[in-house]
Amino acid sequence: MLDRESREAAQIDAALERLARDEYGICRSCGTVIGLGRLKALPFAQCCTACQAGVEARERGVGAEWRSRSIRPEPRAPRPAFAVSRGGPWRET
Ligand SMILES: [Zn+2]
Repeated sequence: MLDRESREAAQIDAALERLARDEYGICRSCGTVIGLGRLKALPFAQCCTACQAGVEARERGVGAEWRSRSIRPEPRAPRPAFAVSRGGPWRET
């Protein structure tokens, strides 16, 4: 019930902690400076836009990625030629 609020509180805590360590506004994932525009829109953002987009894409694409990565049968070696040439209509008796 308090999920959203407690999550926000945790984010605020984390932001304050990062502020104290001088890490506020630094992407947690790649270490780049998070843009001011992004921080204004999302003061507790922990990742830059690029990393956040990557995370969201991964979360969304989990199923699709799974399917595309499903095991494909290995291409078989070509049939041995003798199976075709042997016993054709011109079989000698
Ligand atoms: Zn980043």
